[in-house]
Amino acid sequence: MKLPIFMDNHSTTPMDPRVLEAMLPYFVEKFGNSASRNHAFGWEAEEAVENARKQIARTIHADSKEIVFTSGATESDNLAIKGVVEMYHEKGDHIITSSTEHRAVLDTCKALESKRGVKVTYLPVDKAGMVKPEDVRNAITDKTILITIMMANNEIGTINPIKDIGKIAKEKGILFHCDATQGVGKIPVDVQDMGIDLMSFSAHKLYGPKGVGALYVRKKAPRVRIAAQMDGGGHERGMRSGTLPVPLIVGFGKAVELCEQEMPTESKRLSAMRDRLQTAITSKLEEVYLNGHSTQRLPNNLNLSFAYVEGESLLMGLKEIALSSGSACTSATLEPSYVLRALGVGSDLAHSSIRFGLGRFNTDEEVDYTAKRIIEVVTKLREMSPLYEMAKEGIDLKSVQWAAH
Ligand SMILES: *Cc1c(COP(=O)(O)O)cnc(C)c1O
Repeated sequence: MKLPIFMDNHSTTPMDPRVLEAMLPYFVEKFGNSASRNHAFGWEAEEAVENARKQIARTIHADSKEIVFTSGATESDNLAIKGVVEMYHEKGDHIITSSTEHRAVLDTCKALESKRGVKVTYLPVDKAGMVKPEDVRNAITDKTILITIMMANNEIGTINPIKDIGKIAKEKGILFHCDATQGVGKIPVDVQDMGIDLMSFSAHKLYGPKGVGALYVRKKAPRVRIAAQMDGGGHERGMRSGTLPVPLIVGFGKAVELCEQEMPTESKRLSAMRDRLQTAITSKLEEVYLNGHSTQRLPNNLNLSFAYVEGESLLMGLKEIALSSGSACTSATLEPSYVLRALGVGSDLAHSSIRFGLGRFNTDEEVDYTAKRIIEVVTKLREMSPLYEMAKEGIDLKSVQWAAH
């Protein structure tokens, strides 16, 4: 086993060597511009791009003409949301989203509120982090032009009832965008069955290269139109101009294909490792709480709060393992995760949370090592904690009068 261990696969994934192998010829040898229509170099590049487009479309049950390549999911989210707002402004100015979306969706909505006067409803989620379809239905007005709800959350792994939301959107004739960046490649995704009109995803979250992503744009029933956010040569059927990064797209296609082929075995292996990690930790430590849904969860996600322990201090003591804490250092203050706060997790437990993101290249040996080290460091930090000491002695911490500084 080699240190450090990478167990932060929701932030990015290592590229699969088979993906690199597929990409290599397209850097030097087959360097053509896929938009060059009148020579062999262009044709060769175009063929490679179209092949990748087919691989990706097939996996999500779309047509290859419905795939628009972008630089990643952030761009896809921006293009979908801003593109719909601009194209359908005469129909209405209201968007429905949820409070636990990725920043790429939330910040896009906030920018549209402040710069364009768009109205946005941020739906709450339940204790497990799920959006209730009935809340979506109740939020719809005659001005609603877009519903944007993520497939699976990047912090807690909770999977939303996308099919039910898609049904409501169809029934009401409203476009449905889904940020499926954590879903594609990890769980089965079918844009037809799920009633999705626009969908964002990204190669580097599924063992492909960084810097490429896609937006699925439905072509019929209904034919979705979006205003381009990038003007130029009219690539990608006018929706996203710019010379295509052929090697990255080839890698994206290969990565998606591998995920599809290996999903049945890989998701079983990952959820077994995840359960092994959770059991090892909770059998040795008390007051460990699971954040997110216990079953409707990504197979590779485990998000735990360790009471009386600061997540950041825990990570400081675990430098040889790459994990993520539920506190984000924003300027001078340590803000607890807005996702955990939206589930109703208190500020203390939100600050105590750790996200484990397992991936294709993690092993049982790494899982066992991680569990052992977590147990050691949490035990040590709790031994140094006066709050833990008091709680162990049976003192109700809520009854304590703290001296003001
Ligand atoms: C990582 C992520 C994004 C951003 O993707 P990039 O390709 O890095 O821009 C958006 N949404 C979710 C849910 C993500 O996990």
